[in-house]
Amino acid sequence: MNTRILQPTSANILRCATRLGRGELVAFPTETVYALGAVATDEAAVKKVYEVKGRQSDKPLIVAVAKKSDISGIAKNVPEKAKMLIDKFMPGALTLVLDKADCVPDAVTAGGSSVAVRIPDNPIALKLIAFTGKPVVVPSANTSDKPSPTLASHVLDDLDGKIEYILDGGASEIGIESTIIDMRTDPPVVLRGGGVTVESIEREIGPIISRTGAERSDGGYMPTADILFSAYYDGMAQNICKRADELSQNGNRVVILCLDGNADKYGERKVYAVGKTYSDYAHNLFAYLRRADAEHIDTVIAEGVESDGIGSSLINRLIKMSGGQII
Ligand code: AMP
Ligand code: MG
Repeated sequence: MNTRILQPTSANILRCATRLGRGELVAFPTETVYALGAVATDEAAVKKVYEVKGRQSDKPLIVAVAKKSDISGIAKNVPEKAKMLIDKFMPGALTLVLDKADCVPDAVTAGGSSVAVRIPDNPIALKLIAFTGKPVVVPSANTSDKPSPTLASHVLDDLDGKIEYILDGGASEIGIESTIIDMRTDPPVVLRGGGVTVESIEREIGPIISRTGAERSDGGYMPTADILFSAYYDGMAQNICKRADELSQNGNRVVILCLDGNADKYGERKVYAVGKTYSDYAHNLFAYLRRADAEHIDTVIAEGVESDGIGSSLINRLIKMSGGQII
């Protein structure tokens, strides 16, 4: 199969919607990362998603709809607090776990009775789902051994020959995945930190329980390079330099992920400067991890960040990817 990158004209979006309707897979941009879409109620199409991504079948998929009123088509018993979050944050980088409606097949939920729902905040994604007229599963459009894609070219790198079309929407705005909250209990439980911060959610509905430790948090991808994640403290840069030097002396190719403003602190050592802000760090993280793989880096040392706002989502991802190797 030839894989083509398409500009997101209405005609091309319609063409992709038609493909989805016929049970095929299409990759498209969302504000978090690129998604590999299939119609959620089409069990055979959903199974193809697992096959193409090389995804474990026990890991359920998030389902996207184009508008709030469509949520009742795939979920039932939606609690009051969930309604408040839907009103406030959808469309957006927030996924809610709810009781599933009967039409959602087991292949989507890994056999469970819940479904994870979101409305992407991206006009191309929304148009595509609306044209399709059905809910669409939206896992990241990478193979499971690669970082989530934040550009159409990343999708092509991983899925060339496996899908027909990739809609090109430029760089994903947020760059890390959605925040996932299980709304079936009160207080609700955070399953994964992401684009919408826990603080902003708590401002709407009061306290939620955080269970985003290594066993619950899930960014999917585990990098090829070893990741060391630094805690955030005053002597951070000196300590990172020391570790980088030890590793280099032992023949490792090392790169330091740091904010632009800190790059000077690492002298001649190899750095990837990820941008000025924590949002930039999140936005660029996966692209730099791809670059580390391409450059055969052995160890990535990632600077720590303060644990508020998007910073806590970054910490969540980096701890998971480091396998708990914190320096
Ligand atoms: P990904 O597609 O890699 O962003 O992963 C989707 C994430 O959503 C995984 O961490 C899943 O465990 C989680 N997820 C999807 N559906 C559900 C569900 N019904 N209940 C709990 N978590 C879910
Ligand atoms: Mg993923």
